[in-house]
Amino acid sequence: MEAVITQNVDGLHQAAGSENVIELHGNGQRVICPACSATYASKTVRERVKRGDTPPRCELCDEERILEPSVVLFGEQLPEHAFYRAHAIAQNSDVFLVAGSSLTVEPAASLPSLAANRGATLIIVTHDRTPLSDRAEYDFRADVTDVLPGLRRAITEREYWLFTHTIRESRVHGIRSRTHRRRTGNRLIEHR
Ligand SMILES: [Zn+2]
Repeated sequence: MEAVITQNVDGLHQAAGSENVIELHGNGQRVICPACSATYASKTVRERVKRGDTPPRCELCDEERILEPSVVLFGEQLPEHAFYRAHAIAQNSDVFLVAGSSLTVEPAASLPSLAANRGATLIIVTHDRTPLSDRAEYDFRADVTDVLPGLRRAITEREYWLFTHTIRESRVHGIRSRTHRRRTGNRLIEHR
C-alpha cells in the first residue's frame, strides 16, 4: 500500500502502524507555527502551558509566533501540500480503496473519481450507497471491520479464495465487477 489518505485528525492511523499517512485535515495531536510550519506534539506544548509558558510560542524561528492547532477548521483551506500529495497519489494509483467514507465531503471526495478516470480499480467499502457507487468495480455495502481484514489477508498472504470468502461471509449487500457490468449493463449483482 502506497499511502493512507485520511480526513481524520486523531492520529489513530499512525498509532495503528500505518505509514505514509496523508492527513487532509491536519492532526489534533500536533500544533503548528504559522510562520515556519514547525510542528510540536500537543502534549509537550500543553506541559509548557501548565508550567506557565503561555501563550506558547515557536522556539524554532525568529518570529516567536503563537502556536496554533494543526487541524483544519470548518471553512478553512486544506493544507495545500497534503492535498497535492493526495492528488498525485490518486492519479497514479492502480487500486483506490475507499474505506468507511460517504464520499460527500469535498475536495477529498473527488480523489476516488480522479483515480478511476486514470484507470484505477475503485473499491468502496461503506454501509450506504455513495455518489460514486456506480463507478466502483467492487461496491461493498458493508462494515469496514467485516470486509477489510479478509481483503488484507487475501492480498498479503496471496490467498485469493479469501476475497471470495469475504464477499460471501461479510453481509455484503451489493458487489459487481467490470465483467458483470459489461454483461449486464448497470445492474447491481446482489450477494446475500
Ligand atoms: Zn516558527
